[in-house]
Amino acid sequence: MFNFRNTNFFSALLVICLIVLKAALFYWLLFFVVYIIVVLCGSFFIQLNFFFKSINSLPNNTNRIAITFDDGPSPNTLDVLEVLDKWKVKATFFCIGSEAEKYPEIIKKIHQGGHLIGNHTFSHSNLFPMLGTQKINEDLLKASYTIANCIQNKPLLFRPPFGVTNPKIGRSVKMLGLSCVGWNKRSLDTVSNNSQAILNRVTRNLKAGDIILFHDNLKATTQILDQFLSVANESGIACDRVDSILNIKAYEKIDV
Ligand SMILES: [Zn+2]
Repeated sequence: MFNFRNTNFFSALLVICLIVLKAALFYWLLFFVVYIIVVLCGSFFIQLNFFFKSINSLPNNTNRIAITFDDGPSPNTLDVLEVLDKWKVKATFFCIGSEAEKYPEIIKKIHQGGHLIGNHTFSHSNLFPMLGTQKINEDLLKASYTIANCIQNKPLLFRPPFGVTNPKIGRSVKMLGLSCVGWNKRSLDTVSNNSQAILNRVTRNLKAGDIILFHDNLKATTQILDQFLSVANESGIACDRVDSILNIKAYEKIDV
């Protein structure tokens, strides 16, 4: 299997070969460039499960998909909730702790609506992947307790910012007993604000088992959500929470 451990094992074998064969500098450079490209791809594509295993899709025999929203809560989340309510659909929200601190009422509203809340770090910093394991733990715990302060439940599902993974994040996920959730279908709503293009992208080849990544803090997403749910409904595909489809524990109850 293609993962970090195997890559390092084969790299070590290759280094021995390069030493034994007294390889020219060109081959050493080629080796390092290829190694770095492989590790970077492993970091940026969560679907590769390169450093550790994530939930990137769901069983396709349940005829269900999971729609997931990152980077909230925000005032725009209220509009998203309204559309979800209209279609009687449950979704999964990966919330940023610092935003939860600003909008505790919206966190409560998501929870009361029967939707699932996951951890999307406290800081959502661009530098998050560069932090040490201790700092990553602190950030994730701070997010978990901020959310727990609102809903008396500590989230057990986690999505790394930008879907970037590395061995330190993997260690933290394991230490804190979290399950990492990725996606297999990106709306790219952060890249484009063309509603039609976003809708076309997410409805193309829509199939049971998909985990779709949206952002609930963006107006363009709210604009296409109603049409997206209409297409899913016409295709006979139901939308549900990640934990319901997988039958896994998503919260740890705590008294705060
Ligand atoms: Zn994010």
